[in-house]
Amino acid sequence: MDLSVESGRVDVWAEHPRLTRFTCPKCDQVLPVYDHTEERTFRHLDSCAFLTYLHARPPRVECPTHGVLQVALPWAEPMSRFTVLFERLAIDVLKECDVEGARKLLRLSWDETWHLMDQAVKRGLAAKPHVVPAKVGVDEKSAGRGQSYITVVSNLDTDTVEYLADERRQASLDGFFEKFSTEERKGIAAVAMDMWDPYINSTRQHLEDANDKIVFDRYHLMKYMTGAVDTVRKQENRALLASDNKTLAGTKYLWLYSKENLPERHQDRFATLRGADLKTARAWAIKESPRHFWSYKRRGWAEKHWYFWATHSRLQPVIDAAHTLKRHEAGLMSYFTNRVSNAGAEGPNSRIQAIRVSARGYRNREHFKTAIWFHLGGLQLYPAIP
Ligand SMILES: [Zn+2]
Repeated sequence: MDLSVESGRVDVWAEHPRLTRFTCPKCDQVLPVYDHTEERTFRHLDSCAFLTYLHARPPRVECPTHGVLQVALPWAEPMSRFTVLFERLAIDVLKECDVEGARKLLRLSWDETWHLMDQAVKRGLAAKPHVVPAKVGVDEKSAGRGQSYITVVSNLDTDTVEYLADERRQASLDGFFEKFSTEERKGIAAVAMDMWDPYINSTRQHLEDANDKIVFDRYHLMKYMTGAVDTVRKQENRALLASDNKTLAGTKYLWLYSKENLPERHQDRFATLRGADLKTARAWAIKESPRHFWSYKRRGWAEKHWYFWATHSRLQPVIDAAHTLKRHEAGLMSYFTNRVSNAGAEGPNSRIQAIRVSARGYRNREHFKTAIWFHLGGLQLYPAIP
């Protein structure tokens, strides 16, 4: 053992008694030492705040069946430059910090820290059980600057990420379904998603009764309708300003609130606006109405009442949005039979946002994916203690 106060480190050399016999790593046959490899160094848990390194020349055995092989070391996984105990600590720290924070606490380089995270994910993915999720959520996530996306498939019962793929194409989702046999896919009962044709097509191609299983998120319905109201407001505001009428100027955000979320300080002004003879006010009233859609138990309500109202509104953006929703009606109504949603506050979806926010240093899409697997994959990340 060597202790250096100046460099703040402890170095420990491990040896074995003469004539010790070791087992072949493949067949457990007990054999004499054949020779030793070059010395290897392993970072271990600190001793009294000193960086601690373990050094050893691993023995090799000559198995009659498997040839000359290095024996398994009781303190590290094959090829690792860290002891198992250090790797487990690193995983615990990485779970609580981003890579940069973990790097500082562990006194490693960024690349070493990243490597430990990456290895943990590889280990976890290799051990991941093959399970067919019953309730599936599909979502697209922007992976940083530019139009770069990833497709995220989660298990909505366990709130874990089950599959990641590049882009948001049909092929991106195909890869998920193709992990399972036709028989296994029957176990998928519901797929919650955005109204995104590539995902819809992929699901239709891989699931029987896809139309009964696809569920569009209520959040997305509101997104379409809110967009339509905003377009009506922009057009109307422009027309009004042309005749020097500033009624709608600066009101953008008032119309984006839902009725019950409008802050009190805006309520008087908004009541006046709603009472005025404005196209925007009409569009807003139509938008607010289908929000009650989900409290209706009976199917067909949307078509009979709301859809008629919307398509006869003479407001083109509202009519367009209504047609979009009409085309996807089956998926919207599926919510009544499959009450699944991607938008849960505790679900992987919102947590992915948090990972991206803290993702200083996830330098590319692959890194972002690895971080999602690490934090949300429900994986067994630790190396086993020998
Ligand atoms: Zn052997």
